[in-house]
Amino acid sequence: MQLYQSQSLKIYNSLSGKKETFKPINEGHIGMYVCGPTVYSNVHLGNVRTFMSFDMIFRYLKHLGYKVRYVRNITDAGHLENDADVGEDKITKKARLEQIEPMEVVQRYTVDFHNILNTFNFLPPSIEPTATGHIIEQIELIKNIIDNGFAYVVNGSVYFDVHKFNETNEYGKLSKRKLDDLIHNTRTLDGQSDKKNPQDFALWKKAEPQHIMRWPSPWSDGFPGWHLECTAMSTKYLGEQFDIHGGGMDLKFPHHECEIAQNEAALGKSPVNYWMHANMLELNGQRMSKSTGNTVNPHELLSGDNKFFSKAYAPSVIRFFIAQSSYRSVLDLTDDGLLASEKGFNRLMEAMNLLGGIQASNASSLDIESWKQKCYDAMNDDFNSPILIAHLFEAAKYINQLKEGSETLTSDDLNILKDTLNTFVFDVLGLENNADNSTGTDKLSGAVDVLIKLRQEARANKDFALSDKIRDELAEVGIQLKDGKDGTTFSIQ
Ligand code: AMP
Ligand code: ZN
Repeated sequence: MQLYQSQSLKIYNSLSGKKETFKPINEGHIGMYVCGPTVYSNVHLGNVRTFMSFDMIFRYLKHLGYKVRYVRNITDAGHLENDADVGEDKITKKARLEQIEPMEVVQRYTVDFHNILNTFNFLPPSIEPTATGHIIEQIELIKNIIDNGFAYVVNGSVYFDVHKFNETNEYGKLSKRKLDDLIHNTRTLDGQSDKKNPQDFALWKKAEPQHIMRWPSPWSDGFPGWHLECTAMSTKYLGEQFDIHGGGMDLKFPHHECEIAQNEAALGKSPVNYWMHANMLELNGQRMSKSTGNTVNPHELLSGDNKFFSKAYAPSVIRFFIAQSSYRSVLDLTDDGLLASEKGFNRLMEAMNLLGGIQASNASSLDIESWKQKCYDAMNDDFNSPILIAHLFEAAKYINQLKEGSETLTSDDLNILKDTLNTFVFDVLGLENNADNSTGTDKLSGAVDVLIKLRQEARANKDFALSDKIRDELAEVGIQLKDGKDGTTFSIQ
């Protein structure tokens, strides 16, 4: 018997606007697709938050015993500036500015993305397909959509006919927009005159002479529209209908709305049973976003080298901070919030470190089974990690009471407490017991300060051989001392 058979999971479905009891298409199996990054620059912490939410969801589904096929793509072509149908490809633009090949841009930022995810202890997805690796599948989809009468060709480009589609289907059902309202609100950008209607979107674009990333097709040498890759890759790896599709809230419209339209137009089926949208990370009360520059790069937060935060934070502290909010809430990244999370995380780890030394008793004074079920209930309620964490803190309190002897547990109950904590803290939330690492930078600074003091004492005693030795040997391991009028400071190379 698998755990999922005894737990009733509810997922908030953006399509219905309700929490629904989760039932996969094939018992015991889940297909999950999450829109991945466009690899034209370093990921910022907002991107990390969205992927982290789905990493936690993936982890919990696996823990429940489901066989999950998790597909998260890499967008390496077709995503134009301003998320529009005109303008330069984001990757080509970066390549032009840096005078390198587009595929060098893709490689550089894919490697960066993976490094960041490893640092934050993400599980790899089951498949990580690329848009450029699926051009043939995208062309086949376009042919189907044209054959079914929902797309038209103009000057070598192919557009999806939103108005025609809306006669028989419901365009806007995910984002709760009505085509009539869209008609009044769509800005017509220059160069979109090929479209019958401004709401139509590109399936294939004929490449301008300067557009380097291009492929042959029945319509022109060109490139696919941004929305198409996700339809092609999710269908290929998860089937025409699958269980969960996720992404950031900002992708709901137009990207996900267009995915639904493409699937329905090509294959006659709504592709996804549960649409999940992760909410935005903010910095200074405004959405973190590459385009406005209101971002923190994970490296900067991890090293402390940034203008927003007072110190460096460990990956698990940042993970813990993110898990302390529901994935569906807006979250503001603040120093106070991170400091509080660091304290909380350390408290939890310290309690867990005490667990090994606790003696079992003949009787239990605590109801551990019901505490355990509360942890599951929290996660079963649309992955409510903040409530789960409240229960984990409750366990930390129990551990201290057990240590003091004011509460007791039998050895069976003690094992349940340990196993459940390990499961939720490490397997589901993906935290690592590096409470000491969280202050690793502080400790290093402290150690260098001790050496700086010893060097000052050596100088005061005119022992210049020793003071130089301290400076030179620190330099050899990459720590530079700088003597200034306010004393000695150091930098790490
Ligand atoms: P992009 O590379 O811009 O396509 O974004 C990759 C993912 O990060 C998408 O799922 C976005 O919705 C998500 N994302 C972008 N900005 C934020 C943010 N400020 N907070 C949370 N997720 C974000
Ligand atoms: Zn997508």
